[in-house]
Amino acid sequence: MNIVVLVKQVPDTESPRKLKSDDSTLDRAAADGVINELDEYAIEEALRIKEAAGDGEVTVLSMGPEKASESIRKSLAMGADKAVHLLDDGLAGSDALQTSYAIQQVLGRTGFDLVILGSESTDARTGLLAAMLAERLGVPQLSLANKVEIDGTSITVQRQTDYGFDRVEATLPAVVSVVEKINEPRYPSFKGIMAAKKKPVETLGLADAGIDAGQVGLANAATEVVDFAEAPPRAKGQIVTDEGDGGAKIAEFLASKKFV
Ligand SMILES: Cc1cc2nc3c(=O)[nH]c(=O)nc-3n(C[C@H](O)[C@H](O)[C@H](O)COP(=O)(O)OP(=O)(O)OC[C@H]3O[C@@H](n4cnc5c(N)ncnc54)[C@H](O)[C@@H]3O)c2cc1C
Repeated sequence: MNIVVLVKQVPDTESPRKLKSDDSTLDRAAADGVINELDEYAIEEALRIKEAAGDGEVTVLSMGPEKASESIRKSLAMGADKAVHLLDDGLAGSDALQTSYAIQQVLGRTGFDLVILGSESTDARTGLLAAMLAERLGVPQLSLANKVEIDGTSITVQRQTDYGFDRVEATLPAVVSVVEKINEPRYPSFKGIMAAKKKPVETLGLADAGIDAGQVGLANAATEVVDFAEAPPRAKGQIVTDEGDGGAKIAEFLASKKFV
């Protein structure tokens, strides 16, 4: 099975996240880059599907600046077989619509039986990629999966819902987005980290991937950040001293905030 896992490098949640004043895009250079949390679950699920099938190949696909190669190497150290790094200045500032177009072009080269990705990123959180990609590829999308079963060309996922879960079935090829309850990602072993250094990473620019420069990048984006403001500093918490009336004071506080 040809499994492609989408991996986005995002700013570490511990790092400061700033938008650049000149073009309102995220200042990725100012923050440490890490694998988007849900993509670690997507990589793990891809590896488990390959191991259960006894053969197949897991390819990591990441669109991002040079720095994203750190996250690509970590994905290979977890056990993915190879990677494609879509790297071109012309992609900077691309919105979700453009990202889905660019990734579709690369998938036209790699081919796929299954595309697996996180249900959302931790920096933009649009949660749009899976649906946009499935639409562009003309294949089924199975979203918010907390369990994936594959039997031949049939795929069934358990889709997390507010009331429990749905079982959704489709035929491969397909796009699956995962949630954090699906598995426990493995840590790269020392052997895995060493092996990752030798695993192939194909770096593609716009021309290599057949991407029309006029359809990607900040200047051509369908969405525009017109304004942004720093989040107000968190107000200091209220300290309640319990002189036997702590419970009453907390109840008063909760009532004053209309929590109760
Ligand atoms: C703060 C901020 C706000 C933004 N707001 C918007 C907005 O409102 N509308 C809009 O269209 N764009 C927005 N963008 C741009 C958007 O983040 C990128 O286009 C991004 O590549 C796709 O959106 P996402 O991360 O929200 O995707 P999601 O749908 O949230 O991500 C789901 C999955 O898609 C995959 N994925 C996403 N991006 C990549 C990538 N570059 N390479 C490989 N896999 C990837 C990952 O597996 C990820 O888990 C914003 C960016 C930032 C930093």
